[in-house]
Amino acid sequence: MPESERIYDLAIVGGGPAGSLAAALAAEAGLSTVVLEQKKMPRFKPCGGFVSARALSALPPDLDLGRITGEPVHTIRVNRGGRSFDYRPARRLGLLVRREYFDRYLLHYAAGKGALILEGHTLKGLDEAKTTAQPRGLYTLTAAETGLAPITARYVIGADGSMGRCGILSGLRKPGINPCGRGLSEIVETEPEIKAPGSGPGTLIFYPLPLLGGMGWSFNGSTWINRGVGGLLGPGLLKKAYLNLFDEDKNGSGPSWWPLPFLGPLKKAGRRNLLLIGDAAGLVEPFSGEGLFNAFKSAVLAFNAIKEAEKTGLEAGEIHNHLCKTNFRGAFILTLAGSILLHSRALVYPASMPRRMADLMENKLLFNRYFQSWT
Ligand SMILES: Cc1cc2nc3c(=O)[nH]c(=O)nc-3n(C[C@H](O)[C@H](O)[C@H](O)COP(=O)(O)OP(=O)(O)OC[C@H]3O[C@@H](n4cnc5c(N)ncnc54)[C@H](O)[C@@H]3O)c2cc1C
Repeated sequence: MPESERIYDLAIVGGGPAGSLAAALAAEAGLSTVVLEQKKMPRFKPCGGFVSARALSALPPDLDLGRITGEPVHTIRVNRGGRSFDYRPARRLGLLVRREYFDRYLLHYAAGKGALILEGHTLKGLDEAKTTAQPRGLYTLTAAETGLAPITARYVIGADGSMGRCGILSGLRKPGINPCGRGLSEIVETEPEIKAPGSGPGTLIFYPLPLLGGMGWSFNGSTWINRGVGGLLGPGLLKKAYLNLFDEDKNGSGPSWWPLPFLGPLKKAGRRNLLLIGDAAGLVEPFSGEGLFNAFKSAVLAFNAIKEAEKTGLEAGEIHNHLCKTNFRGAFILTLAGSILLHSRALVYPASMPRRMADLMENKLLFNRYFQSWT
């Protein structure tokens, strides 16, 4: 059959962490799966590069974590009012990675499961048509670049991040940047300066900035430092806060900003057989800006929704809405309240913060435990 006439079971837009995990699960389950990724990997993504213990635990057991280049995280330091507070548990709290290589590894993992990966192709158009032969409708995806025939699929997963097009083209999200937090980050290639014992590779240093509704960070890798600022203010004010915390570094690329969308739990994430996941669905954790855990979790939910749709004939988008509502919306108010509490705690009782942040990374905080029942 010519490629232009092929009907895929599933087309995924975006080969970031959410899209790669969804692709791996679907391909392994026998669904013909294609991933459209606008960049060629490895590609840069503004991010702290911290993969928490809970995010790691959401990855499939056969994904060899030992092959991911990264720094095991063992120390959390909170700097506040000229003082430092450390927490060093015996266990690993996560992995500090370079996102460009971590994401490439996950995308290769999906390819290994049988997903077709098309890199360097940007989604431009998305149409849905019903015919008598296909009463449930088929999606046609077209790319901005020439040379790729339109892709036809029964289901679509939008995993194209906070600036992606799937949400807009499907009518699930409004054009422009929806209300959200923002993060600014930069990687400085250097031997990490050892300022004090315990601040070497694998140390996460946080600088609470409650008035910005966020925090700054400096994460020590082996030969690099990932540093940045995240919060509720605009890029200009974040840059000011960034320069207050860190000196400008000639070896750095200069900080880049990116949205931190966290209001997704209040919105729908599916329509007919199109499902949004990860940042495209707006699922960043409001206190810490951590997005990878919910990116993985929503990928699993979308895969479960498609499996259920195949069994029942119901629309996968509706099943996904239901799964997202029970898994994300119910906990959202609690999480938001919890994050206000944590920001206030950082002001009055900073010594308790490193431990609280470790609890968050391991999904142990009371307001976060709600999130666990998802498999
Ligand atoms: C400054 C900053 C720091 C952060 N630090 C952390 C952290 O330390 N730990 C953590 O867990 N989270 C962190 N986050 C959040 C985290 O980066 C995101 O939640 C995560 O990347 C979401 O993954 P995703 O797969 O949903 O989207 P993305 O990683 O954004 O991937 C989307 C993919 O879709 C592709 N794409 C976009 N548009 C199109 C299109 N039209 N056609 C085809 N492909 C397209 C993109 O190229 C990209 O590869 C941070 C975010 C920011 C901004």
